[in-house]
Amino acid sequence: MSHVFPRQIAAPPVKAVSGEGCYLIDDSGKWYFDGSGGAAVSCLGHGDAAVIKAIQDQAGQLAFAHTGFFTSEPAEKLADLLIAQAPGDLDRVYFVSGGSEAVEAALKLARQYHLERGAPDRRHIIARRQSYHGNTLGALATGGNAWRRAQFAPILIDVSHIAPCYEYVEKDADETAFDYGQRAAQELEDEILRLGPDTVMAFVAEPVVGATMGAVPAVEGYFKRIREICDTYGVLLILDEVMCGMGRTGHLFACEADGVTPDILCIAKGLGAGYQPIGAMLCTDAIYQALAAGSGFFQHGHTYIGHPVACAAGVAVVDAILSRGLLPRVNEMSQKLRGALHDAFGQHPNIGDIRGRGLFLGMEFVADRADKTPFAPGLNIAGRFKAAAFEAGLICYPMRGTRDGQYGDHVLLAPPFIMSDDQVGEIVDKLKRAAIVLDTA
Ligand code: PMP
Repeated sequence: MSHVFPRQIAAPPVKAVSGEGCYLIDDSGKWYFDGSGGAAVSCLGHGDAAVIKAIQDQAGQLAFAHTGFFTSEPAEKLADLLIAQAPGDLDRVYFVSGGSEAVEAALKLARQYHLERGAPDRRHIIARRQSYHGNTLGALATGGNAWRRAQFAPILIDVSHIAPCYEYVEKDADETAFDYGQRAAQELEDEILRLGPDTVMAFVAEPVVGATMGAVPAVEGYFKRIREICDTYGVLLILDEVMCGMGRTGHLFACEADGVTPDILCIAKGLGAGYQPIGAMLCTDAIYQALAAGSGFFQHGHTYIGHPVACAAGVAVVDAILSRGLLPRVNEMSQKLRGALHDAFGQHPNIGDIRGRGLFLGMEFVADRADKTPFAPGLNIAGRFKAAAFEAGLICYPMRGTRDGQYGDHVLLAPPFIMSDDQVGEIVDKLKRAAIVLDTA
């Protein structure tokens, strides 16, 4: 009997024993193509020699030094590397151990920033429906996925949720994509005015929505308008790139494609590429200086922030992404994979939308392509698709959208940046085998 407490208690997981390139291997010797990098984590694939060596060297040199006393060479180096690449005036990096921690730190920094500037009334957070920002209580409250929140609603802080930017379902037929984006962004201004502009602390959004919607980027102009609205009312813009950041969209930071710089940016997953648990929160110099000139202390922290071994892994990962030409490679492989998905599924009666950016792609499953009706939740299409793909030797990330009862099931793909041309065909073949569950729905 296993004493491990698995997440899926009713269906305990298979034991993984090793990883090689784009594959994971289980204890029966079966190989799985890691088509979602777990959950958009393993951007370099498995067994990367340079990252492993960096971890070994750092563990031998200095495994841990508490940040209450020390900084470390790998933390300094990683912060320098990130800031050299970061857009706009992002200037400081606060290291944590994962995505939820990055979001918690961002929320608390936003609150403390307003307090130190003498604006104690700024306490409201606005986020979007169908978003995911993590599972700790603050991050869960910020996320707008009804299913994930439901059980915990009585113990969550109050957060306002506006509509996501979701062209496939929400754009009117007689509207341009740009006009739709401006309409969707207008909900932010309306909500700020409803709450009272001097009471709003921050707006939080994923540039490309991952777990809850399946790789949905905003339409052109949406985030520029969001940035303008935040600036008008002194509301901090927090972008959550935990899933879509670190090169996954073909830019190191996803917001570069939208032409905006947030006040606070959250990253994780691809930063450690699965070799170490690490996340980070980047903020502008203006925010940092408000605290520096005020209390001189960020009232937040965890034991493992700035962990030297995790930071050393992060340095090796960012170095690999930049020095091995992986950003152009993501764009090249994206075109190939996207093209192959369109060829294979573009006319499928139950696949309504193929979308995404870079190697962060999604397909939405529908009962009826014409009116975009989702499958009935009771059919458990996402769960059955995941099981069929796993059986076929493909790890992918299907989710049941609750749509606040509206958006349907989808599958998210986030393969390693190092995937080959042949592996495009392998992914599509295995997806075709899994897609049989759609025919039999
Ligand atoms: N934000 C986003 C956008 C995410 O996708 C996730 C994880 N899927 C998180 C935050 C939480 O990250 P973690 O699971 O590392 O806490």
